[in-house]
Amino acid sequence: MATLTITEDLLCHRERQRLATARWRAKYPGRSQAQSRASYLKNKDRNKARVAANGVKWRREHPERKRKHNRDCFHRVRRAALVVLGEKCKRCGFSDVRALQIDHVNGGGNQEYKLLGSRYNIWKRVISGIPGYQLLCANCNWIKKDECGEKTRRAS
Ligand SMILES: [Zn+2]
Repeated sequence: MATLTITEDLLCHRERQRLATARWRAKYPGRSQAQSRASYLKNKDRNKARVAANGVKWRREHPERKRKHNRDCFHRVRRAALVVLGEKCKRCGFSDVRALQIDHVNGGGNQEYKLLGSRYNIWKRVISGIPGYQLLCANCNWIKKDECGEKTRRAS
């Protein structure tokens, strides 16, 4: 599979922050790593408590913005996963993202879903480059399920 770059606007604030930190570290190798580590450890408990308290306060004061953030994040991560997998059905080339589904090449999707708890976590795995996933449109996905004997009650 070709390596695709995920544009930063597909990422949420926290993920962009992580990238910025990585870039900063690359630009100033060695510099302040020990210093920032020491400062982090010194203020860890106080900062953790402060961030948690601020987060709770902010979420209570802005429930609609919290919901929007979660929704946006969910869509951004799904979109990024689709970009990584080529944005079209592996079998027929269908490319309307509304009907594209992430398929586990060797099956076992249901078990993984139960294990990870959400599609969001599966998309994160796709983005991180873990192999074993492909994109199929809804039709091809159901047809593949039938061909592989992964029939569900609905498909029989
Ligand atoms: Zn298809």
